Amino acid sequence: MARILIIGAGGVGSVVAHKCASVPEVFEDIVIASRTESKCRALADAVRQRTGRELRTAGVDADNVAELTDLIRNVKPDMVLNIALPYQDLSIMDACLETGVHYLDTANYEPRDLAKFEYKWQWAYQDRFRDAGLTALLGSGFDPGVTNVFAAYAQKHLFDEIHVLDIIDCNAGDHGQPFATNFNPEINIREVSARGRYWERGEWVETDPLSWSMTYDFPEGIGAKKCFLMYHEELESLVMHLRGLKRARFWMTFSEAYLNHLKVLENVGMTRIDPVDYHGQQIVPVQFLKSLLPDPASLGPLTRGKTCIGCLMRGVKDGREKTAYIYNVCSHEESFKEVGSQAISYTTGVPAMIGAMMMMTGKWIRPGVWNMEQFDPDPFMEQLQIHGLPWTVQQTTENEK
Ligand code: NDP
Repeated sequence: MARILIIGAGGVGSVVAHKCASVPEVFEDIVIASRTESKCRALADAVRQRTGRELRTAGVDADNVAELTDLIRNVKPDMVLNIALPYQDLSIMDACLETGVHYLDTANYEPRDLAKFEYKWQWAYQDRFRDAGLTALLGSGFDPGVTNVFAAYAQKHLFDEIHVLDIIDCNAGDHGQPFATNFNPEINIREVSARGRYWERGEWVETDPLSWSMTYDFPEGIGAKKCFLMYHEELESLVMHLRGLKRARFWMTFSEAYLNHLKVLENVGMTRIDPVDYHGQQIVPVQFLKSLLPDPASLGPLTRGKTCIGCLMRGVKDGREKTAYIYNVCSHEESFKEVGSQAISYTTGVPAMIGAMMMMTGKWIRPGVWNMEQFDPDPFMEQLQIHGLPWTVQQTTENEK
């Protein structure tokens, strides 16, 4: 039985708190801390109403290692779940090392002034975590996260070699807003407006932002949707850990309205991440834009429809070519009914809880810094079925085509 400290009380943090509270046999004591403690208290109230569990709360500036260290020493958790923003990854990892507790997050570190999605800063902690006997689990959301686990499961059970991997993220939901993002607007816009990148025969190939597209016919009544090639962080670790891989790409669907708004915002400079002078004050346009856009947590009651995120793979098994598609379909309305959040927060928060469960039950504890596919996928896949993200495998082998 574990005591955990969750840092971040936004859209995803809310789901993590609800889902951890629903597994008292693993998470005996839960503390939720964030920059604005009133949000933690509101979240604790919501969790009490839904689950009857009492969560403790605290305020913390997670950019400040000394504040974090004091909080961790005070709370004495077995692990910290970092559900704040990618900017805080390194300070929270530093505080975990200083206090001797395990670490988990859902997104890789990003410096504020550079939208660069790379694991190098966090992988550089490998020796320190290993020497301290501590585990750091990186990217335990859906993508990254479950997509890595789907690929690891396919490598373990379905293929001798995976040659082609396409991760396809479809949000077929509609929130009725002219323009809104489904998770933190600043992080989302930095990611979507970055240059595309995919991996082919050992090399990264760059594309202009959202310049490549394909149409994919999604299952379970979702139907055909246009998807755009983007760079996504899980590609960086997966190309290192999948046997025989020749090509890896990531695709995401966007509505026409989203793309048109984004284009205009880009053209007028509102997505810039560098500071500009405004009447003698330095402001970062994308941060100002975030303050105008709907809070993703407010989209819960408004969003209808489903998400479908999965891995489409081609490779060989026993000398025969085959394809496999492993996916999850998640309903925005059902997620809202269960925990008061839309499916993007839900599909991220559930895997964060399961990652923590894997660690706290000793299944995924190994000193060092790890990506999700470096652990046995089976117990994680089992828990996805139980905790609200059921998955389906569709397979075709050469002779059956
Ligand atoms: P939100 O903006 O809704 O929430 C972020 C939370 O972190 C807020 O409570 C915020 O506090 C808090 N926070 C921010 N800065 C600090 C700080 N310096 N100290 C303490 N707390 C801080 O974001 P989301 O919930 O949408 O996203 C959370 C994380 O999940 C992000 O890292 C995002 O990239 C990741 N994510 C991962 C996905 C995946 O599939 N792997 C998918 C979607 C998101 P305050 O309210 O005061 O601002």
